[in-house]
Amino acid sequence: MRLTNTLSGRVDPLDISRGEVGIYVCGVTPYDVAHVGHAMSLTIYDVLVRYLRWPGNPHGGLRVTFVSNYTDVDDKLIQRGHELERDPLELASANIDAWEREQQALGLLAPDVRPRVTCEIPGIIATIEAIVAAGAAYATPAGDVYFRVRAKPDYGKLSHRNIEDLRSGTRGEPGEGKEFPLDFALWKAAKPGEPAWPSPWGPGRPGWHIECTTMAQRYLGTTFDIHGGGVDLIFPHHENEIAQAEAAADGQTFARLWMHNGMVQRDGEKMSKSVGNVVTVEAALDRWTPDAIRLFVLNSQYRSPNNLTDEAMAAATRGVERLATALAQAPAGAPTGVNPEPYRARFVQAMEDDLATPQALAALFDLARAINRARDAGERVAEAQIALRELAGVLGLSLAESRAEELARLDAGAISRLASQLDVACSGKDAAQTVDALLERRQTARAERDYALADRIREALTGLGVIVEDTAEGPRWSVRRD
Ligand SMILES: [Zn+2]
Repeated sequence: MRLTNTLSGRVDPLDISRGEVGIYVCGVTPYDVAHVGHAMSLTIYDVLVRYLRWPGNPHGGLRVTFVSNYTDVDDKLIQRGHELERDPLELASANIDAWEREQQALGLLAPDVRPRVTCEIPGIIATIEAIVAAGAAYATPAGDVYFRVRAKPDYGKLSHRNIEDLRSGTRGEPGEGKEFPLDFALWKAAKPGEPAWPSPWGPGRPGWHIECTTMAQRYLGTTFDIHGGGVDLIFPHHENEIAQAEAAADGQTFARLWMHNGMVQRDGEKMSKSVGNVVTVEAALDRWTPDAIRLFVLNSQYRSPNNLTDEAMAAATRGVERLATALAQAPAGAPTGVNPEPYRARFVQAMEDDLATPQALAALFDLARAINRARDAGERVAEAQIALRELAGVLGLSLAESRAEELARLDAGAISRLASQLDVACSGKDAAQTVDALLERRQTARAERDYALADRIREALTGLGVIVEDTAEGPRWSVRRD
């Protein structure tokens, strides 16, 4: 597989020789609820992880460790906590809980590790100590610690600029006792009323960049495969992550490949609080299905900006319906039919080529069209439908059918015949109500210890494609897919 590597400026092969891949993605600073930009970023890495793990990829499925952090202490959080008169760490925790529920609703894979800065302070301090010992950082009398950018002559290699360009083009963070304007904070001395942890430099908290370096290396090793995030993080955040990691580890490579995704726009404009056009994940889930949101994201190549418009979402919603329609039940059909293999090959080729999801989706839409055509012609489509569901699943699309579609697959005539054989009243009931009545009869039979009858009802229903599951709340049933 090849991916665009911001560090090399090329499309580089992903090294899969170890059979495992470590991926670190910068997570949110939970000072507010999550918006669709967060969802878009995680969706892209979710699809990368699903694809790499998929046994159908040319590498036979890789072991992937996916790490994404929470910056649960920082300036914005402290300020927001102050405005809301809430403890900033408690505010962070509440927003993380909400975001994790939304991630689940969006069908996003949970990262294997979701480290939080406040639980990683000793490791962060150890990394800062290693950088100080290497001569690449210094403490000020006020108790701040800064990275010495001039100790790293290749600083700027990720953003493809040099120290002089950066110095003239950037206003360095303000800070007393800095040797050089581009030097950045590794440790910030505590101001009164701020959350603080003890350190060799006095009470304080970590700078933003050092936490990611520490957490990535703790869970993935000194050198790992892929570091991802939005393009807005290239400078200074990711540049600084590299500088810190290499200074602490005697120049050893940090991430081999740096992947950056484009940003979400709303109606062609940058989403921002000041414009007032931020779409929260909650608002998006109120209007659109998780599959539609995902299809919208995957309709653009991950490096492009993604323009959220009502028209684009309507198109994505129709796209999901088209794919789902192709999965509707089909008669057994003639032995000839759709061979899914050429579509599968196109899908794989697109995904291998820099995660080209628009082309991968095009293969799925073409397969869906071929299925619909073949079904209308009375040809066999079962294998092609299985392949379509599998490939859609690699993109994280559930294509869940509605209850109405599920019930449409019930054979109403056969179910009412079964009911009358067993003397279960079914007149005036639809097929679903008749299934409920049959299951009630089964419950009564079990209560009367007539297990032979209970088993007979269950077996007969199974024969009609009704899957019965016994749960603590009683039996639940669904209609089998063929
Ligand atoms: Zn980060």
